[in-house]
Amino acid sequence: MTFFNEKKAHFVLIPLVAQGHIIPMTDLARLLAERGVHVSFITTPTNAARIQPIVQRSIESNLPIQFVELKFPCAQIGLPDECENVDLIESSYFIAFFEVLELLRDPLEQYLRTHHIPPSCIISDGCNPWTVEIAQRLCVPRIVFHGPSCLFALCDHKTSKHKILHNVTDYSEQFVVPDMPITLRFTKETGPGFFNAPGWEKIRDDTVEAERTADAIILNTFEDLERQFIELYEKELGKKVWTVGPLNLYNKEENSKSLRGNKLGAEKQQMVLNWLESHKPKSVLYVSFGSIARKSSLQLMELGLGLEATEKPFIWVIKEAEITPELDRWLSTVFDKRVHQKGLILRGWVPQLAILSHYSIGAFMTHCGWNSMLESISLGVPMVTWPHFSDQFTNEKLVVDVLGFGVSLGVTVPTWMPAGDDDTISVNRDDIKSAILRLMGEEEEMKEMRRKVAEMAEKAKKAMEEGGSSYNNITRLIESIIL
Ligand code: UDP
Repeated sequence: MTFFNEKKAHFVLIPLVAQGHIIPMTDLARLLAERGVHVSFITTPTNAARIQPIVQRSIESNLPIQFVELKFPCAQIGLPDECENVDLIESSYFIAFFEVLELLRDPLEQYLRTHHIPPSCIISDGCNPWTVEIAQRLCVPRIVFHGPSCLFALCDHKTSKHKILHNVTDYSEQFVVPDMPITLRFTKETGPGFFNAPGWEKIRDDTVEAERTADAIILNTFEDLERQFIELYEKELGKKVWTVGPLNLYNKEENSKSLRGNKLGAEKQQMVLNWLESHKPKSVLYVSFGSIARKSSLQLMELGLGLEATEKPFIWVIKEAEITPELDRWLSTVFDKRVHQKGLILRGWVPQLAILSHYSIGAFMTHCGWNSMLESISLGVPMVTWPHFSDQFTNEKLVVDVLGFGVSLGVTVPTWMPAGDDDTISVNRDDIKSAILRLMGEEEEMKEMRRKVAEMAEKAKKAMEEGGSSYNNITRLIESIIL
């Protein structure tokens, strides 16, 4: 392993306070620290508590990572204490939540100014533009870490540069992303770019500007997966784009997989693994929609009926925040009993990486969050895709249309955060059933899809191994800062 015995290298990692952003950054922090770099991982008390086992393991392994807990200014926006993560707040608070993040700037600057090793660089999430000023004041390079796919980052950049969304007034009007090697059609509400909705203009402008002024970009992807888009994106930005993924492959031991992101995963690990052990290889469908997306009770029941109709074994994850009294009753008195042998319904946080890594998983129904998709690809699991919002529609196009690793449910309208009593159903049970049966079936096209994704999983592993493209990029990234 290329090890940097450089006592003065201090990288400051600042993830957005959302699971899909914190999780890959904890992997990156450990990867950097393993190479001899001192890391400060900036977080808040509630988020630190979730990753406590990772903190503990880092201490036991003598990794030079300091997990820094800054007090989150919940009170300033009228939120109860501990509402420090996007998955803990209602959507009506979203804008205020993002705006108040900049109050972390002063305590962070104070921490960095008094640290015994001055910072060498800041690696800040693309959704944390409030860190620009700190890097300027401390005169250190700032690297943007983008959570989604490179295709999304590139499309976002192109639509901003050509001001496409300025001319699109109707949220459902279609447009084509300009100047791309492939034709990608979106609407304003499904199109590339975070924060496109009304009210988010300042946050959106700040994030675009933070990308423009960054010294380099880090992406959680790998060359064999998105080569043409990475090259174009780098050319377009005129700055280095470091691809360092799939970061999830850093977690090799079972324990590390189940503890990733939230200690609650570990509580379920044994029970879930025992259930999976009783199934044939590649026979189980895993159904989960990330940490934020929520569905109405009616939509969840429709999904359950679709799953049941396939007669395939499944693991279905439902978030605590989605469970209404009506859904709870239906699950425990009707559905649980009916699918007793076939389906395992899990509530709350689950050890996703451990589940996806199991040999009995044959397919994944996903909301197309980039971490979930990358985890699936790197483990050779094909997908049924059901995007809900933001980057998920672009990620879906990459995986289904460009890479050919998935079957789409054909969702064209975003689902934000429906209330429990919302009575709309965007995907019906028949479509759910037929997409799953197709993906897990014996058609030649599907066999070819499974072969292709397995091949890409091998390339993913190689990218992360010593001498692989992502491994080498980590080395060069560190050299670019310290040499
Ligand atoms: N995840 C998990 N258990 C859960 C839900 C999510 O481990 O019960 C992890 C998942 O493996 C992924 C991350 O949380 O690493 C979710 O990120 P993604 O980009 O897929 O979606 P987001 O939550 O940001 O919408």
